Amino acid sequence: MATLSTTIPTDGGTAIIIPNKPDPLAISYAQLHSHVSAFQEKLAQLGIAPQDAVSITLPNSYEFIVAFLAASWQRAIAAPLNPAYKQDEFEFYIDDLSSALALVPRDSFQSDGPAVRAARKHKAAIAECCWNGHEVTLDIMDKGEAVGKKSGQVVQKALPDDIALVLHTSGTTGRPKAVPLTHRNLTKTMKNIQITYKLSPKDRTLLVMPLFHVHGLLAGFLAPLFSNGSVIVPMRFSASEFWDMFTNYNANWYTAVPTIHQILLRNPPPSKVPNIRFIRSCSSPLSPKTFHELEKAFNAPVLEAYAMTEGAHQMTSNPLPPAKRFPGSVGIGQGVEVKILDQKGVEVSQGVEAEICVRGENVTKGYLNNPEANKTSFTKEGVFRTGDQGKQDEDGYVIITGRIKELINKGGEKISPVEIDNVVAQNPLVGEAVSFAIDDEMYGQDIGLAVVLKDGERTTPDDLRKWITTRVAKFKVPKQVRDVETLLRPVH
Ligand code: ATP
Ligand code: MG
Repeated sequence: MATLSTTIPTDGGTAIIIPNKPDPLAISYAQLHSHVSAFQEKLAQLGIAPQDAVSITLPNSYEFIVAFLAASWQRAIAAPLNPAYKQDEFEFYIDDLSSALALVPRDSFQSDGPAVRAARKHKAAIAECCWNGHEVTLDIMDKGEAVGKKSGQVVQKALPDDIALVLHTSGTTGRPKAVPLTHRNLTKTMKNIQITYKLSPKDRTLLVMPLFHVHGLLAGFLAPLFSNGSVIVPMRFSASEFWDMFTNYNANWYTAVPTIHQILLRNPPPSKVPNIRFIRSCSSPLSPKTFHELEKAFNAPVLEAYAMTEGAHQMTSNPLPPAKRFPGSVGIGQGVEVKILDQKGVEVSQGVEAEICVRGENVTKGYLNNPEANKTSFTKEGVFRTGDQGKQDEDGYVIITGRIKELINKGGEKISPVEIDNVVAQNPLVGEAVSFAIDDEMYGQDIGLAVVLKDGERTTPDDLRKWITTRVAKFKVPKQVRDVETLLRPVH
């Protein structure tokens, strides 16, 4: 049965390494299963019932891993959230899913952090989680309303069509769309990724992507676990520690966004380059220059993939050598059907540019509570329209040529300009504001903002940026702010 509780092996060596200093934590597959089962029991005791949403606001950590797996095993919906969000952002997501429970890091309750404040406002239960050397604890700080009434639930057994995960994508209309992914969707991607890269128990990966996005969660974590390999999980990416960790823990591959690859090129291994089986790149365009530099500097094949939250991450990838791969292409579908369709849903001839569309067991059935988006995002035959523009070469290799949707892709983080515009519009000094993508060497794209102040008002770009910082997570703060007198709006 295709669920997260049945596809992760129960024995077979080290599953997870948490590179704590000076004592790293090594967790075997058997221990992982026992810790997840114990946490699942605590969730049941608290009152988590099938398809309740559990917001997870923990950074990459063993606590996150255990909480995520346990929630999905309990037939709940795991909803990981970026721990860097501000209160308004947490509120939106907790409210959108009517989360029954918010899991927060140790001591957040005492410090009344933004996730705690948001959860309390929406009357969700709040629990702190930490690894105490024996187990991951679930310390209930507030029973909330919903779960408080139904404590003592039974331990559940997940079903393939249960929603296991909901992540939001930055919607082009500004309102993020909730993407439900079932156990079936997730396990299909895990299998696709395993086959694409021939992942085996001998493989070890160093996870540098956040677990609250599909890239880190599926390619960096769940697929290697499915393959019985090992995953090294530091709290975050650190250029200065990457190669030491990679070498000391015998990693042999990693997956990351182009921004991270570029940082690693500027911070190469201090001594010998370790043996790397392959390097995977995904989530934003990898320039041919970076592709060649990486292959040369790290002596490994670079495999660019193409992914989306709606596809439970991977949709296409370049295959391992000796099969063909080339810079500028995101490769071929593996377990995913790829079609290039015109506006009417008709397949175009090979080499012609149109919309990249996909179908497969990995693809979501549709956004939650959003019939309008579902109508425009799927063809009559149920093929998903990605909103990306591209073409295929004679062997079916996909080349992305542009985007139909209007999003800013900052180093893999997708930001809706409308969301930024709406936040800035709340500033009492601002008359009008428009944000847009600007080219950026480090991130590929960054955010630019043009504002018109209200008559007689004055402020500086720096002060406006500081104000925005109090409202949204730091990665959404515009890099460049310009005060313009009149905005020339594009005519659509
Ligand atoms: P994450 O949420 O971890 O960033 P993700 O990139 O798989 O994962 P989304 O945030 O849903 O998922 O972003 C999907 C969009 O990212 C695609 O529609 C496409 O525009 C862009 N994208 C993904 N991979 C590539 C790539 N290799 N080259 C260019 N664009 C890409
Ligand atoms: Mg994303």
